[in-house]
Amino acid sequence: MTNIIEPATLSTPSLKEDEYLNESDGLVYCSKCHSARQTKKELAGRTFTPYILCNCQRESFEKEKAEREHEEFLRTISQMKSSGLQDKALYDYNFSNDSGINPEIKHAHTYVEKWPEMKQTSTGLLLWGDVGTGKSFFAGCIANALLEQGVPVLMTNFAKILNTLTGMFSEDRNQFINSLNQYSLLIIDDLGIERNSEFALEQVFNVIDSRYRSKKPMIITTNLTLSELKNPSDLMRKRIYDRILENCIPLKINNQNIRELNASSNMTRAKQLFT
Ligand SMILES: [Zn+2]
Repeated sequence: MTNIIEPATLSTPSLKEDEYLNESDGLVYCSKCHSARQTKKELAGRTFTPYILCNCQRESFEKEKAEREHEEFLRTISQMKSSGLQDKALYDYNFSNDSGINPEIKHAHTYVEKWPEMKQTSTGLLLWGDVGTGKSFFAGCIANALLEQGVPVLMTNFAKILNTLTGMFSEDRNQFINSLNQYSLLIIDDLGIERNSEFALEQVFNVIDSRYRSKKPMIITTNLTLSELKNPSDLMRKRIYDRILENCIPLKINNQNIRELNASSNMTRAKQLFT
């Protein structure tokens, strides 16, 4: 960036109220910060004295620029939140509203702090436990904290996804499922609602499988037990749960200090990230 405002020749400059002419170099100076508002340049044997920003002008220029950029950033975050948090109640699921009752919430902080590693290793979380134990709050805190850093996060649930997919043609379904992978983190609430429908089960598999193949992390919440997830009743569920368990660290939400970790090498590595 150049600070040159306008070219000027060596003719006597007209002075503004906050300027004075420095007799020693013949240049215009700022009477506030006493730095030059002109500089000397030689070109084709002639001397020019173009105007430049004095120190205080440059500072205020930089400050306004930073303010503009910050406002732009806040606008972007606000847009990302309205796109990523489909349920307005999710806006309140943030660390500042944490009651401190659930000791497991420290792992949500860790996940946010270690996000670059989580992203790189495609490490997600499987939050399981009974209804009303704060799994959605836990996941929502992560969503809000990352969104506020400018990370694209989508937090949705299987009911919404299935609603959207129902009635779509198969190509549109694929397109919709692929569109979920534009988010760096995908959080899906309520795995397990697909118990009753084969169509639903197929779509859940498609979503999970597409995410798995995108090598981007996901966070899943479920009321199913870890034992149910590890010993599913049929092959379709096994395919779904295996993919989830491969990349998502199971965390039991509610009871203290119960955190079961898959023994695969990826999970061992993930375990190291958490301890
Ligand atoms: Zn100045």
